[in-house]
Amino acid sequence: MKPAAFDYVRASSAEEALEVLAKEGADARILAGGQSFMAMLNMRLARPKLLVDIMRIGSLDRIEEIEGEIVVGAAVRQAKLLGWDKLKAKLPLVALALPWTGHVQTRSRGTICGSIAHADPSAEMPLSLVALSGSVHLRSLKKRRRVRAADYITGMMNTARADEEMIEAVSFPVVAEHGYGFREIARRHGDFAIVACAAIVSSKGIRLAVGGVADRPEVRDWPGLSGSALDDALNRFAYELDARQDVHATARYRRELVRRVGRAVIEEAVQCHS
Ligand SMILES: Cc1cc2nc3c(=O)[nH]c(=O)nc-3n(C[C@H](O)[C@H](O)[C@H](O)COP(=O)(O)OP(=O)(O)OC[C@H]3O[C@@H](n4cnc5c(N)ncnc54)[C@H](O)[C@@H]3O)c2cc1C
Repeated sequence: MKPAAFDYVRASSAEEALEVLAKEGADARILAGGQSFMAMLNMRLARPKLLVDIMRIGSLDRIEEIEGEIVVGAAVRQAKLLGWDKLKAKLPLVALALPWTGHVQTRSRGTICGSIAHADPSAEMPLSLVALSGSVHLRSLKKRRRVRAADYITGMMNTARADEEMIEAVSFPVVAEHGYGFREIARRHGDFAIVACAAIVSSKGIRLAVGGVADRPEVRDWPGLSGSALDDALNRFAYELDARQDVHATARYRRELVRRVGRAVIEEAVQCHS
């Protein structure tokens, strides 16, 4: 199918993009890498009157370290972050998770912020941002506000973003001394995850974040558990999740993956921490 007719604006500054959003409201949508949105337009799941292309705005194409956080601008493509020479040292979890996001071809166009804006429950970048207690920087013509990633994603492809707001950047806290693990189960590498698990181990305890199970990333923190106590905790977590059932997997299978893959990534993170 072809998309419904739309107008197109290539914004040359963030202010220009925000002016369009303020004027057109829900009739206008941001176009970033187009890797999710073009498919939605083609299937006519979205029918905006106007697309605002932000990919030529130089000020949004920046990766910066600011006060202990890595701030990734809205025009930074996934391939650029993956190729950033400090990624492994500053954001080890993102370095583990990003190669699972789509394919070389989709990463060369798709942005980090676009993936978070899209809020697919199986996507790796929203999961990583929530796992790391990161933030989403929203901006409208009138104000800027910063929202915790866990509060930003309100449901399946639903977010706290207002129509006149754009994600200007997202920020990942730098906590490099922790141990990290990431794995996912998908039909083929590059497909969306049936279940994705991210583990962070520190001297304070264990954090497990899971994607693909419920309608948004879910996180659980435990003090340093091991052996059967950890198995029991994983069982409880899996049981309490509102696991989805769809053409790809049953809810029961997803819960089983949380137990098994969750355990594996925690062990991976423990090894990396010690
Ligand atoms: C074959 C294929 C396989 C894929 N596999 C995976 C996968 O395994 N894992 C995964 O996570 N993703 C996968 N993707 C999706 C890909 O990661 C997308 O790049 C990403 O979801 C969206 O980023 P984008 O820059 O392309 O955004 P777009 O597609 O341009 O936009 C997506 C949505 O976000 C909104 N948006 C974008 N940027 C902003 C902003 N700055 N402010 C406000 N709203 C904004 C748009 O209006 C739109 O609603 C796959 C895509 C394809 C085509």
